[in-house]
Amino acid sequence: MTITNQQLFERSRQYIPGGVNSPVRAFKSVGGTPIFFQRGQGACFWDVEGKSYIDYVGSWGPLILGHAHPDVVRAVQDAASRGTSFGAPTAAELEIAELLCRLLPSLELVRLVSSGTEAGMSAIRLARGYTGRNRIIKFEGCYHGHDDALLVKAGSGALTFGHPSSAGVPAETAGNTLVLNYNDVAGVEATFSKLGSEIAAVIVEPVAGNMNLIKATPQFLETLRTLCTKHSSLLILDEVMTGFRVGLECAQGLYGIRPDLTILGKVIGGGLPMAAFGGRRDVMECLAPLGPVYQAGTLSGNPVAVAAGLETLRQVQTPGFFDKLSMMTRKLTDGLTSVAIKNGVVFSAQAVGGMFGIYFRKTPPVSFTEIMESDRDAFNRFFHTMLKEGIYFAPSAFEAGFVSAAHGDVEIDKTLEAADRVFSQKA
Ligand code: PMP
Repeated sequence: MTITNQQLFERSRQYIPGGVNSPVRAFKSVGGTPIFFQRGQGACFWDVEGKSYIDYVGSWGPLILGHAHPDVVRAVQDAASRGTSFGAPTAAELEIAELLCRLLPSLELVRLVSSGTEAGMSAIRLARGYTGRNRIIKFEGCYHGHDDALLVKAGSGALTFGHPSSAGVPAETAGNTLVLNYNDVAGVEATFSKLGSEIAAVIVEPVAGNMNLIKATPQFLETLRTLCTKHSSLLILDEVMTGFRVGLECAQGLYGIRPDLTILGKVIGGGLPMAAFGGRRDVMECLAPLGPVYQAGTLSGNPVAVAAGLETLRQVQTPGFFDKLSMMTRKLTDGLTSVAIKNGVVFSAQAVGGMFGIYFRKTPPVSFTEIMESDRDAFNRFFHTMLKEGIYFAPSAFEAGFVSAAHGDVEIDKTLEAADRVFSQKA
């Protein structure tokens, strides 16, 4: 007899807090039992009960080539067979650093770390060390990892569970984090005119993907750039999610904004734990061993993770890669919208490259307040009925979705047919 998701979840809860190693996996906000997966291939994955799903989570972004891409698997196997970690430099690290700096002109120096959280935390420390200032600005609903300074009015799981500001973060730490409204140009101008000389950095998701998906207005990002330059504060673009996901030039290329620092993760690790932060040479040279800002990692630049990242970045450079990915993602969002309209469901959707947002409200949101007004119950019903149909969306109304290069017409058409059935029952 096969083991069930329910059995595994019950056992997991005895040994792992909430049965999961990252909160949104728990299905707490949508209700029900999380699915335990055993295998993935291309656009699909299979749970322990043998049921298959079309995957629109892609491990929350990294799997831009789909599950178990044969070239990535081969690269990982080859690297592992030569040694899983050296704790010393390798030529492959240099190769990926050169590649990242070539693909993103704002990167003059780059350092590899193992998670987006580490990248964000290190970039903030570096910005403070460089400027000699303590205050930072972030935006409500943006998530930059679970560093204390950044876990204030955050998005993603923190928002999903209604604890956007975590317990355990000292008031004095949170006090240095100024939280403003996303896309609120006047709010940023007012804060800079009052406190500009105390602000070390502004950190922002250029396309917010942790309060569902909200696009920054060009004017918002331009204002951040201008004010940071004027007040000698650093602009940090969090491209952990958007990096090599919205296009080869990342969101900074799409918007034409040159940040002082960028944080990357997800796609650049090809499904293995790897992330990076980089940017202006004079700022990055403050890092140890060159400068006084300390930052380190036993597994930083891990050769197996670097191999997966290099192979993934090699593939996304194929001519037409992002055109096809964007087209498929648009086919999904346009298709879902027309099926919803046909069935009289209040719904909207939008895509940026290979990431998308679906909203149970009339138009795509442009602010945190607007996303909070979307119909969460309708999302939860949609999530569960689609799950029964074998379509796996993120188990939260506040997460963006992802399409991979392995998603083709077959998968998108199946998804739209399922959505038609689901919406016709007035999801
Ligand atoms: N920044 C953004 C924009 C993210 O989406 C995430 C993770 N979802 C992070 C930072 C943190 O990355 P990690 O989970 O690898 O620590």
